[in-house]
Amino acid sequence: MAQRGYNYNQILAKYFPGTMVGPQSNVRSPSKSRSSSRFRVTFPETDAREAERILSLLESNRNVLQRRLSTAGVEFQFPTVEIVINKSTGDFVGRTGMPPWAAAATHNNRIELQPLSLLKRRGILETTLRHELVHVVIDAVGGNRTPRWLAEGIALHLAGEGKLLEQERNAVALRPKELEDKLANAKTAAEMKQAYAAAYRTVRELIRVEGENKLWKRVAQRSYDVSAGRR
Ligand SMILES: [Zn+2]
Repeated sequence: MAQRGYNYNQILAKYFPGTMVGPQSNVRSPSKSRSSSRFRVTFPETDAREAERILSLLESNRNVLQRRLSTAGVEFQFPTVEIVINKSTGDFVGRTGMPPWAAAATHNNRIELQPLSLLKRRGILETTLRHELVHVVIDAVGGNRTPRWLAEGIALHLAGEGKLLEQERNAVALRPKELEDKLANAKTAAEMKQAYAAAYRTVRELIRVEGENKLWKRVAQRSYDVSAGRR
């Protein structure tokens, strides 16, 4: 990984997730946290006021998602979710191994976010929270088995990010295999945006043909063969 240009934080995050390197005082650096029944938000001291708002955004998004799933007739227990607001992009990259242009990362009911100031400057705080929460739900419903194209497509659709991707050229609906390759091999923010746009197109088309409820059923039943639904 080092030969390919990754730094030690990224290498540690890959092979020893959760490991932190720094002076003792850093390791114990005071982060605050706030909890509701379903969420626990950890944040730098400076974000205390914002954390309250984030908690209520999460709660209302949770309710919306819960309703969508019961409409779809999918049994599901909403897990307890931990949200970590990172103080710097360096912290975010170090903790997640994600590229610095990623907005967030979700893994095992834990959502890691870039610094709030950055997300707000880009105007994507609300959509990012919604998007990542959809990932938590999809992982729980689909037992971490959902193919990435389907998970990303649903997350982008429900977060309302489709409009941002609509202008993307070459965003055609692709076959799942091609989509999966595109998502796995994107090396830059621009390539990732293209891959997301293609996943979004494909899922939007599926929703048009089958309806959203059927899509949730696919996630729950782990049935990903969409060729039957295509003309
Ligand atoms: Zn995503």
